[in-house]
Amino acid sequence: MSPPGRKNGGKRKRRLAHWIDGRPDPGIGERMGPLFDPSAGVATGEVPLAGAADVDRAVAAAERAFPRWSRTPLGPRTDILFRFRELIRGHADELARTIVGEHGKVLADARGEVQRGLEVVEFACGIPQLLKGEFSENVSTNVDSWSIRQPLGIAAGITPFNFPVMVPMWMYPIAIAAGNTFVLKPSEKDPSPSMLVAELWKEAGLPDGVFNVVHGDKAAVDRILEHPAISAVSFVGSTPVARAIYETGTRHGKRVQALGGAKNHMVVLPDADMELAADAAVNAAFGSAGERCMAISVLVAVGVAGEELLPRIQERIRSIRVGNGTEPDVDMGPLVTREHLQRVTRYLDEGVSEGAELVIDGRGVKVRNGESGYFLGPCLFDRVRPEMSIYRDEIFGPVLSVVRAGAYDEAVAIVDANPYANGVAIFTNDGGVARRFQSEIQVGMVGINVPIPVPMAYYSFGGWKSSLFGDAHVHGMEGVRFYTRGKVVTARWPEPRLRGKDLGFPTV
Ligand code: NAD
Repeated sequence: MSPPGRKNGGKRKRRLAHWIDGRPDPGIGERMGPLFDPSAGVATGEVPLAGAADVDRAVAAAERAFPRWSRTPLGPRTDILFRFRELIRGHADELARTIVGEHGKVLADARGEVQRGLEVVEFACGIPQLLKGEFSENVSTNVDSWSIRQPLGIAAGITPFNFPVMVPMWMYPIAIAAGNTFVLKPSEKDPSPSMLVAELWKEAGLPDGVFNVVHGDKAAVDRILEHPAISAVSFVGSTPVARAIYETGTRHGKRVQALGGAKNHMVVLPDADMELAADAAVNAAFGSAGERCMAISVLVAVGVAGEELLPRIQERIRSIRVGNGTEPDVDMGPLVTREHLQRVTRYLDEGVSEGAELVIDGRGVKVRNGESGYFLGPCLFDRVRPEMSIYRDEIFGPVLSVVRAGAYDEAVAIVDANPYANGVAIFTNDGGVARRFQSEIQVGMVGINVPIPVPMAYYSFGGWKSSLFGDAHVHGMEGVRFYTRGKVVTARWPEPRLRGKDLGFPTV
């Protein structure tokens, strides 16, 4: 199976289509965006950028599909989800290779992303249990009361480039399982995996129009946010866009969850296992070239931890192999685009000019056959201070900043003063301090001797403060609640003696 494409000039240059009403849809074709292989630095195809008319077609398909899908009994719905799960498993390698071709991350990492997304599909397979309401018998004389949760209608997902399979899978398996229809607007930088997913949904037996994909940029997003038939929007991306999506979507009467950017800290106390902490810091900072919303970008070294850790971290960084993500011995791939590489590189210059110590400079990294790829080796800054731009901003690249703190309280104050609050980790051997930390830290996801504490599918994922706008985290029970609304029924089957006039407020 391969994404819809065409032959071009003797070479296969792909031209993607939208996926609307169960089939590829070329779109109106007014604007196209380029697709690149970031390891080779070459254009590989193009993707249509939807205008309002394309979005409207997808929404119309979702609207037509909703009445039947929302009334489809739980058994047949779950059958389709189980078949979809098997198909994702069967095509996991193909999905992972498609990710690598457009994103650049290494194959093992892409496989991991597919696996973590699959876990949400597996969670959604339990939808009959998850949708169960409550029942109270005899709340008044011969009166029973029960609660049910019903689908909202059409839900939309707008997703970032860094997890082109997993992040959309945080959303649509649960939305669809709950009886909604769905319009996905994936990142225009790596849209192809979503087309494979659409084909797999169809093969699983999902009725046409229940899952639709429109590609595009701000123009498509703007139409989604104002479209009157869309009831809910799930967004994952950078903080400025997340804030704008939340404000615009809610102004148009939609339910919105908008997950934003991150600056995740790892606090290392002097009593920590330093070998474990050094491994964790390097893996969590440089995995996926730092393009993870749960990457560790700041290491807060408390007391003597700094002197203990720095040599260990440097030693590990020197063994990281950078290259094409499809090669088996490579640890870290390129950045996603040339513009992003330039942006990250600018931060290196700024860090140096603001007085941080660039201990390892990843520029000029040697890569086998990678002269034109968007490569940057791992970079390590020491003596970073909170007022520097490399500390304040989300860089989203392979750059680890070490901040020195005198004591535990100072480290906590640094973490809590940061406007981002997605994930945080503490490394210590003191259970009492760890317990205090997980209770008092003002961050949504906390790891204790775990550097990337991404919750499993049956828990919910989400940050606090500028890392999330809205009330609901994604997946887990919060996801089920987000894509449904409650209804409470109160019922009496009257007996003749209960009839008659009574204007009083009903009580027992
Ligand atoms: P991005 O904000 O540039 O794009 C995200 C989505 O929004 C894409 O679909 C894009 O087409 C669209 N978009 C971009 N600019 C827009 C605009 N002005 N108006 C409307 N829509 C717009 O993010 P990205 O670069 O694709 O992804 C990286 C970001 O995502 C990082 O900030 C990262 O931390 C964040 N992220 C967060 C989480 C989380 O769970 N909190 C998870 C993954 C990624």
